[in-house]
Amino acid sequence: MCVLYDDPVTGYPTHYARDDLPRLERYPDGQTLPTPKGRDFQAGTLLGSVTGELGLRTYLESQGHTLVVTSSKDGADSALDRELHDAEIVISQPFWPAYMTAERIAKAPKLKMIVTAGIGSDHTDLQAAMDRGITVAEVTYCNSNSVAEHVLMMILSQVRNYIPSYNQVIQGGWNIADCVARSYDLEGMNVGTVAAGRIGLRVLRLLKPFDVKLHYLDRHRLPEAVEKELNLTHHTSLESLAKVCDVVTLNCPLHPETEHMINADTLKYFKRGAYLINTARGKLCDRDAIAQALESGQLAGYAGDVWFPQPAPADHPWRSMPHHGMTPHISGTSLSAQTRYADGTREILECYFENRPIRDEYLIVQGGSLAGVGAHSYSAGNATGGSEEAARFKAKAKA
Ligand code: NAD
Repeated sequence: MCVLYDDPVTGYPTHYARDDLPRLERYPDGQTLPTPKGRDFQAGTLLGSVTGELGLRTYLESQGHTLVVTSSKDGADSALDRELHDAEIVISQPFWPAYMTAERIAKAPKLKMIVTAGIGSDHTDLQAAMDRGITVAEVTYCNSNSVAEHVLMMILSQVRNYIPSYNQVIQGGWNIADCVARSYDLEGMNVGTVAAGRIGLRVLRLLKPFDVKLHYLDRHRLPEAVEKELNLTHHTSLESLAKVCDVVTLNCPLHPETEHMINADTLKYFKRGAYLINTARGKLCDRDAIAQALESGQLAGYAGDVWFPQPAPADHPWRSMPHHGMTPHISGTSLSAQTRYADGTREILECYFENRPIRDEYLIVQGGSLAGVGAHSYSAGNATGGSEEAARFKAKAKA
């Protein structure tokens, strides 16, 4: 069972803006890119939407399996709910997550594995998966650098007031003062990341040439050599990081320990006029507290591409709050990233069907407990509460 986002409204693309993708051999820490035995798609094509099918159909059907692909994922009348009874594997992407709650897992007696084609498995109730012995795997590193690029874009667009200035142009205006009354240089600012894993560390490295002062908070300390190389200040609490930073970027997974870590109380730690960038998960933040902090001026700006739930209802306050630079969840699903996570998903499936071990770095849950990256980066429990709200988007679109 594969849940993917809808095709473009103009139909599945017949041609693309570019003809090729750069060829990458390894990720920055030496980890190899996915190594499936085969590939039945062209690199750089749209794979994450329904017609793209993650390039999996030929492979799966040649092995005698049935592949069901749908974008209908929310509500009791969804195709996902209808098919769950027969599903052995459920695949989805965080951009358009199949919320695998305890209730859904209970409706899927044959379910053995849940695969995230991407990174971040918080849309699965990890506790329920552990209790049932279901494997949860994701394609670690496939889009970490993609997201880091998006973070950098969002920091710069917020600090330099890019979006309102762009809108001046579109609207035929030329009021320079309107554009620059909220525009600053990043140079010299204090920038901090909550988490310095694959994305957070990449963000720190990309920021280094801007001559900013770099800070991080992570439950795992980086090697001393890296701290020295990037001249990092390590913090052991959000309070200590937020008090000194002009820009804070969130790059940790969503799990019970991090859910709503940014809320009305913790926002008081931030410097007035700080920018908050969140491309990690919407639920790391209290939705209404963010909107209020922008209204009051406690935050100068908020940008990111993650929401809760997804898709966000039309009346989600982050669509209309002041000084935001939100995109729908896109940072990890560039065409470049899709090629990597389609390959990675196929690698995971080949391992599963051939009874070979899945790479440790792809594992979140296995054998009833957190495993691999899951053991390093998550805490046990469930962070899917409230995900049924996603059905409201569909109801609105139908009306
Ligand atoms: P990673 O596993 O390499 O890094 C996660 C880091 O978070 C680890 O260093 C871990 O120690 C740290 N961490 C976990 N809990 C923490 C806590 N309570 N306090 C401080 N640090 C904590 O993962 P990654 O590749 O860097 O991805 C991180 C997250 O970013 C993913 O889990 C996902 O939620 C999100 N993500 C978003 C997109 C997107 O398209 N927007 C794409 C990829 C990943």
